[in-house]
Amino acid sequence: MKYPKIRELGEAVKALIKGPYTSPFPKEPHVPHPNFRGQPKFDAEKCVGCLACEEVCPVGAIDHKDVIDDGSNPKRVMIHYTDTCIFCGECEAACIADHEGIKQSNDWELSFFDRKEESYETIEKDLQLCEICGAVVACKDHLNWIAERIGELTYSSPTLYLSRLKSLGVVDENLVAAAQDRGRSDRVKILCARCRRQTTLTTKD
Ligand code: SF4
Ligand code: SF4
Repeated sequence: MKYPKIRELGEAVKALIKGPYTSPFPKEPHVPHPNFRGQPKFDAEKCVGCLACEEVCPVGAIDHKDVIDDGSNPKRVMIHYTDTCIFCGECEAACIADHEGIKQSNDWELSFFDRKEESYETIEKDLQLCEICGAVVACKDHLNWIAERIGELTYSSPTLYLSRLKSLGVVDENLVAAAQDRGRSDRVKILCARCRRQTTLTTKD
Protein backbone atom coordinates (compact mmCIF):
# COMPACT_ATOMS: atom_id res chain seq x y z
CA MET A 1 0.00 0.00 0.00
CA LYS A 2 1.22 3.51 -0.88
CA TYR A 3 1.02 6.03 1.97
CA PRO A 4 0.15 9.68 1.17
CA LYS A 5 3.05 12.10 1.17
CA ILE A 6 3.36 14.77 3.87
CA ARG A 7 2.48 17.49 1.30
CA GLU A 8 -0.70 15.68 0.28
CA LEU A 9 -1.72 15.22 3.91
CA GLY A 10 -1.13 18.93 4.46
CA GLU A 11 -3.36 19.79 1.48
CA ALA A 12 -6.11 17.46 2.79
CA VAL A 13 -6.07 19.06 6.24
CA LYS A 14 -6.10 22.55 4.67
CA ALA A 15 -9.09 21.59 2.50
CA LEU A 16 -10.94 20.28 5.58
CA ILE A 17 -10.50 23.61 7.34
CA LYS A 18 -10.82 26.04 4.40
CA GLY A 19 -13.32 24.09 2.28
CA PRO A 20 -12.78 22.51 -1.12
CA TYR A 21 -10.59 24.13 -3.79
CA THR A 22 -13.23 23.65 -6.49
CA SER A 23 -16.26 25.96 -6.73
CA PRO A 24 -19.72 24.49 -5.97
CA PHE A 25 -20.92 25.22 -9.56
CA PRO A 26 -23.67 24.73 -10.72
CA LYS A 27 -25.20 25.10 -7.25
CA GLU A 28 -23.62 28.57 -7.11
CA PRO A 29 -22.37 30.70 -10.02
CA HIS A 30 -18.67 30.15 -10.68
CA VAL A 31 -16.44 33.23 -10.35
CA PRO A 32 -13.29 32.67 -12.45
CA HIS A 33 -9.84 33.98 -11.51
CA PRO A 34 -9.41 37.64 -12.58
CA ASN A 35 -6.64 36.59 -15.01
CA PHE A 36 -8.77 33.89 -16.64
CA ARG A 37 -8.67 34.31 -20.44
CA GLY A 38 -12.16 33.40 -21.58
CA GLN A 39 -14.42 34.15 -24.50
CA PRO A 40 -13.27 37.11 -26.63
CA LYS A 41 -15.78 39.92 -27.16
CA PHE A 42 -15.91 42.53 -29.92
CA ASP A 43 -16.01 46.17 -28.92
CA ALA A 44 -18.22 47.84 -31.55
CA GLU A 45 -16.75 51.29 -30.80
CA LYS A 46 -13.09 50.32 -30.99
CA CYS A 47 -13.17 47.68 -33.76
CA VAL A 48 -12.52 49.21 -37.19
CA GLY A 49 -13.64 46.17 -39.21
CA CYS A 50 -10.22 45.44 -40.77
CA LEU A 51 -10.59 41.62 -40.67
CA ALA A 52 -7.08 40.97 -39.28
CA CYS A 53 -8.61 38.88 -36.48
CA GLU A 54 -10.49 36.78 -39.03
CA GLU A 55 -7.23 36.16 -40.90
CA VAL A 56 -5.32 34.89 -37.86
CA CYS A 57 -8.03 32.85 -36.10
CA PRO A 58 -6.72 29.27 -36.29
CA VAL A 59 -10.15 27.63 -36.14
CA GLY A 60 -12.28 29.96 -38.26
CA ALA A 61 -14.27 31.24 -35.29
CA ILE A 62 -14.42 34.76 -36.77
CA ASP A 63 -16.26 35.57 -39.97
CA HIS A 64 -17.93 38.57 -41.58
CA LYS A 65 -20.79 39.37 -43.93
CA ASP A 66 -21.01 42.52 -46.04
CA VAL A 67 -24.66 43.57 -46.27
CA ILE A 68 -25.10 46.02 -49.17
CA ASP A 69 -28.84 45.77 -50.07
CA ASP A 70 -29.76 48.98 -51.95
CA GLY A 71 -26.48 50.67 -50.95
CA SER A 72 -28.13 53.29 -48.72
CA ASN A 73 -26.81 51.86 -45.46
CA PRO A 74 -24.12 49.25 -46.21
CA LYS A 75 -22.82 47.34 -43.19
CA ARG A 76 -20.11 44.85 -42.36
CA VAL A 77 -21.35 42.32 -39.80
CA MET A 78 -18.47 40.86 -37.76
CA ILE A 79 -19.35 37.44 -36.37
CA HIS A 80 -17.70 35.53 -33.53
CA TYR A 81 -18.73 31.86 -33.25
CA THR A 82 -18.54 31.15 -29.54
CA ASP A 83 -18.95 27.39 -29.98
CA THR A 84 -15.91 27.16 -32.29
CA CYS A 85 -13.55 29.50 -30.41
CA ILE A 86 -10.72 27.89 -28.45
CA PHE A 87 -9.87 31.05 -26.44
CA CYS A 88 -6.32 31.16 -27.83
CA GLY A 89 -6.16 34.98 -27.88
CA GLU A 90 -4.62 35.26 -31.37
CA CYS A 91 -7.40 37.64 -32.45
CA GLU A 92 -6.70 40.05 -29.60
CA ALA A 93 -2.95 39.85 -30.23
CA ALA A 94 -3.43 40.72 -33.93
CA CYS A 95 -6.08 43.42 -33.47
CA ILE A 96 -4.87 46.64 -35.09
CA ALA A 97 -7.07 48.77 -32.82
CA ASP A 98 -4.53 48.64 -29.99
CA HIS A 99 -5.76 45.10 -29.17
CA GLU A 100 -9.08 46.58 -28.04
CA GLY A 101 -11.37 45.75 -30.98
CA ILE A 102 -11.70 42.21 -29.71
CA LYS A 103 -10.61 41.27 -26.21
CA GLN A 104 -10.72 38.16 -24.12
CA SER A 105 -13.20 38.43 -21.26
CA ASN A 106 -13.83 36.49 -18.09
CA ASP A 107 -16.82 34.82 -19.72
CA TRP A 108 -16.47 31.04 -19.68
CA GLU A 109 -20.10 29.87 -19.60
CA LEU A 110 -20.88 28.57 -23.08
CA SER A 111 -23.97 26.43 -22.62
CA PHE A 112 -27.04 27.36 -24.63
CA PHE A 113 -30.33 25.77 -25.63
CA ASP A 114 -30.38 26.67 -29.33
CA ARG A 115 -26.96 26.29 -30.97
CA LYS A 116 -28.10 27.73 -34.28
CA GLU A 117 -29.46 30.93 -32.74
CA GLU A 118 -27.26 31.44 -29.69
CA SER A 119 -23.76 30.23 -30.51
CA TYR A 120 -22.49 33.49 -32.01
CA GLU A 121 -22.16 37.19 -31.31
CA THR A 122 -22.12 40.03 -33.83
CA ILE A 123 -21.30 43.71 -34.20
CA GLU A 124 -21.96 45.99 -37.18
CA LYS A 125 -19.63 48.49 -38.83
CA ASP A 126 -20.49 51.09 -41.51
CA LEU A 127 -19.05 50.18 -44.91
CA GLN A 128 -17.65 52.55 -47.51
CA LEU A 129 -18.59 51.66 -51.09
CA CYS A 130 -16.86 52.79 -54.26
CA GLU A 131 -18.65 55.95 -55.46
CA ILE A 132 -18.60 54.71 -59.07
CA CYS A 133 -19.20 50.95 -59.10
CA GLY A 134 -20.50 50.31 -55.58
CA ALA A 135 -17.84 47.71 -54.69
CA VAL A 136 -16.74 47.47 -51.05
CA VAL A 137 -13.71 49.66 -50.33
CA ALA A 138 -13.36 49.14 -46.54
CA CYS A 139 -15.12 50.00 -43.31
CA LYS A 140 -15.37 53.76 -42.77
CA ASP A 141 -13.65 53.48 -39.40
CA HIS A 142 -10.80 51.55 -41.01
CA LEU A 143 -10.21 54.33 -43.58
CA ASN A 144 -10.19 56.89 -40.79
CA TRP A 145 -7.84 54.68 -38.78
CA ILE A 146 -5.38 54.63 -41.71
CA ALA A 147 -5.70 58.38 -42.23
CA GLU A 148 -4.92 59.05 -38.57
CA ARG A 149 -1.87 56.79 -38.68
CA ILE A 150 -0.26 58.24 -41.81
CA GLY A 151 -0.94 61.92 -41.04
CA GLU A 152 -0.32 64.34 -43.91
CA LEU A 153 0.35 61.46 -46.32
CA THR A 154 -3.45 61.02 -46.25
CA TYR A 155 -3.63 63.91 -48.74
CA SER A 156 -1.96 61.80 -51.43
CA SER A 157 -5.07 59.60 -51.64
CA PRO A 158 -8.51 61.06 -52.48
CA THR A 159 -10.15 57.95 -50.96
CA LEU A 160 -8.43 58.60 -47.63
CA TYR A 161 -8.71 62.38 -47.42
CA LEU A 162 -12.34 62.41 -48.59
CA SER A 163 -13.18 59.74 -46.00
CA ARG A 164 -11.49 61.87 -43.36
CA LEU A 165 -13.24 65.05 -44.49
CA LYS A 166 -16.59 63.24 -44.65
CA SER A 167 -16.15 62.01 -41.10
CA LEU A 168 -15.56 65.65 -40.12
CA GLY A 169 -18.69 66.67 -42.07
CA VAL A 170 -16.93 69.08 -44.47
CA VAL A 171 -17.59 67.42 -47.86
CA ASP A 172 -20.39 68.58 -50.13
CA GLU A 173 -22.01 65.32 -51.27
CA ASN A 174 -23.78 67.09 -54.17
CA LEU A 175 -20.47 68.21 -55.67
CA VAL A 176 -19.02 64.71 -55.36
CA ALA A 177 -22.01 63.13 -57.11
CA ALA A 178 -22.21 65.69 -59.96
CA ALA A 179 -19.46 64.35 -62.22
CA GLN A 180 -19.61 60.79 -63.52
CA ASP A 181 -17.44 60.12 -66.55
CA ARG A 182 -14.99 57.54 -65.19
CA GLY A 183 -12.30 59.95 -66.23
CA ARG A 184 -10.55 62.88 -64.59
CA SER A 185 -13.76 64.38 -63.24
CA ASP A 186 -14.21 61.24 -61.17
CA ARG A 187 -10.73 61.14 -59.69
CA VAL A 188 -11.57 63.11 -56.58
CA LYS A 189 -13.90 60.47 -55.22
CA ILE A 190 -13.79 57.54 -52.85
CA LEU A 191 -13.00 54.71 -55.25
CA CYS A 192 -12.13 51.02 -55.30
CA ALA A 193 -8.75 50.09 -56.83
CA ARG A 194 -10.29 49.10 -60.18
CA CYS A 195 -12.17 52.39 -60.67
CA ARG A 196 -9.18 54.40 -59.42
CA ARG A 197 -7.10 52.75 -62.16
CA GLN A 198 -9.75 53.47 -64.79
CA THR A 199 -10.02 57.14 -63.86
CA THR A 200 -6.24 57.42 -63.95
CA LEU A 201 -5.84 55.76 -67.35
CA THR A 202 -8.84 57.43 -69.05
CA THR A 203 -8.05 60.85 -70.49
CA LYS A 204 -11.54 62.36 -70.90
CA ASP A 205 -11.78 66.00 -69.83
S1 SF4 B 1 -9.57 33.40 -29.24
FE1 SF4 B 1 -8.51 32.22 -30.86
S2 SF4 B 1 -10.06 30.79 -31.59
FE2 SF4 B 1 -11.15 32.37 -30.43
S3 SF4 B 1 -11.77 33.86 -32.00
FE3 SF4 B 1 -9.80 34.55 -31.16
S4 SF4 B 1 -8.27 33.68 -32.56
FE4 SF4 B 1 -10.18 32.56 -32.92
S1 SF4 C 1 -10.14 46.11 -35.51
FE1 SF4 C 1 -9.52 44.31 -34.32
S2 SF4 C 1 -11.44 43.28 -33.83
FE2 SF4 C 1 -11.91 44.71 -35.44
S3 SF4 C 1 -11.75 43.53 -37.35
FE3 SF4 C 1 -9.73 44.49 -37.00
S4 SF4 C 1 -8.55 42.96 -35.86
FE4 SF4 C 1 -10.72 42.36 -35.73
